[in-house]
Formats: sequence, structure tokens, C-alpha cells
Amino acid sequence: MAALDGRVALVTGAARGIGAAVAGRLAADGAAVAVLDLDEAAGKATVDAIEAAGGRAIAIGADVTNAEQITAAADRTAEEFGSLDILVNNAGVTRDNLLFKLSEQDWDTVIGVHLKGAFLASKAAQKHMVAKKYGKIVSLSSVSALGTRGQANYSTAKMGLQGFTRTLAIELGPFGINVNAVAPGFIVTEMTGILAERLGTTPDELAAKYADVTPVRRVGQPTDVAATIAFLVSDESSFITGQTIYVDGGRRL
Ligand code: NAP
Repeated sequence: MAALDGRVALVTGAARGIGAAVAGRLAADGAAVAVLDLDEAAGKATVDAIEAAGGRAIAIGADVTNAEQITAAADRTAEEFGSLDILVNNAGVTRDNLLFKLSEQDWDTVIGVHLKGAFLASKAAQKHMVAKKYGKIVSLSSVSALGTRGQANYSTAKMGLQGFTRTLAIELGPFGINVNAVAPGFIVTEMTGILAERLGTTPDELAAKYADVTPVRRVGQPTDVAATIAFLVSDESSFITGQTIYVDGGRRL
């Protein structure tokens, strides 16, 4: 029996990058997966890959900052697959700039997607989990939580998610729900491609630079994060809650 047989997962921002890898890994471990992204069609490639490997998945289009949409997404997941056991708050955006140039809109966008998005999705999901007295919530923090030049909005949101995680762990623990966060370092995705562009370099050059200063001498792949999350949503980790696990090859900043 696979670790997540019979479980149902909702992964936000799962059309590509880390979210797609997490959705694929949870499906490979036996879970039925709702692949949520802004655009339903964008999630189709992730769903196709899961189905081609023999798994079960549906694509859902929703904006995590919209309470009505994310609640409907959680309810639809539970209706289609019979429950909602696992939520991965992965959807994310960056709008980097130094403080004196950072616009109010870029502050609101980043805080909105990461913090309000995780709040709304967790609130929508916990209803199903509390009813079953079982659940796993994992949110994507980042090494940027510890402070990164040009990311006042993003690092605030990512550290906020660590406090959010500890608080939900306290509130939801009595209902059989574990709540944790993972904080990746440099993981090769479109998001780090955008960072390379901002820094005036290529994605490969930037990755090589980060690998040089990372103790394990490589950058991360989405599968590194997916493996950690697979552990945190399995019953192997049922005594771990309120934690943030750094997945950064030993490099904090
Ligand atoms: P990515 O490649 O940019 O993917 C993010 C996904 O989230 C995209 O498919 C995006 O959809 C979706 N999304 C954005 N806003 C959304 C919203 N309001 N509602 C629903 N979906 C939304 O990013 P990634 O690198 O895989 O990162 C995934 C998570 O890990 C993020 O939370 C990120 O902050 C975190 N993280 C990444 C790294 C890294 O090095 N890559 C490091 C630390 C933490 P669209 O394409 O339509 O915008």
C-alpha cells in the first residue's frame, strides 16, 4: 500500500514549478490530487502527467486571494474525491524591488497571494479536515523569510507564513491536523528565471553562482521540495507540527 492511498490533496499553484512536482509526487504516493491554478487550462499538463502515470487528478481554476473561488475549489475537491485530507499552500508570486521603489500595489499583491491566499485556502480546507478529525496542511515559506535585498514584500510574507503555521498547529492539533511549512532555498523554476532576469544574468549562470556558495554544491530541484512535503503529509510525520523545514542544501541566504 502506498503512503497516501485513499488520501485527497489540494495543491495551489500546481500548474508548474514546485506545485506541479508536489502534485505529481503526492499522486505517485497514492493521493487523488486537485491541481489548482489561476487558469484551469494551465493545470491540464500536470493532470495529464499524473493520469499518464496511473494517478487520479482534476484541474481547478481559482485565485487563492478570492474567498468564494478558493472555498468552491475546496468543496469541489471534497465532492469529487470524497474528502479533503491534504492542503499544500504553494501558489506564489514575486514583485521584487528595493524599498524606495517598491509600489503599494506590489506590496499588496505579494502579501495577498502568499498570506491571504494561505489563510483563505486553509480556512476553506480545515472545515473538511475537522469534520474527519484528520488533515495535513503544508505552506511554502522560503529562505527569503530571513531577509533578502529587494524582497521586503516577499520576505515579510514568507516569515508571516511561519507564524501562521505555528498558530494553526496549535489551533488544529486537537482535531488531528498537522500544520507545517517548508522553506526552500534556490529551486530551479520560472520564479528563479525571473530573478535571473532582474539581476541581468541567465538562469543557468545564476544557478551556477548559487551552487558555488551552497554547501552541497548544487541548487535545488522541485522534486527536492516535493519529497519533503510527501514526508510531511504522510503518517510517518504525525508527531511533527508547527515546524518550518529548510530545504536549502545548507545555505540559508
Ligand atoms: P512559479 O513557477 O512561479 O509557480 C507559481 C504558480 O502559482 C504559478 O503556476 C502561478 O500561476 C500560480 N499562482 C500565482 N498566483 C496565484 C493565485 N493568486 N492563485 C492561484 N495560483 C496562483 O513558482 P515556484 O518557483 O514553483 O514557487 C512555488 C512556491 O514556492 C511559491 O510560494 C514560492 O514563493 C515558493 N518558493 C520558491 C523558491 C524557488 O527558488 N523557486 C524558493 C523558495 C520558495 P500563473 O502562472 O498563472 O501566475
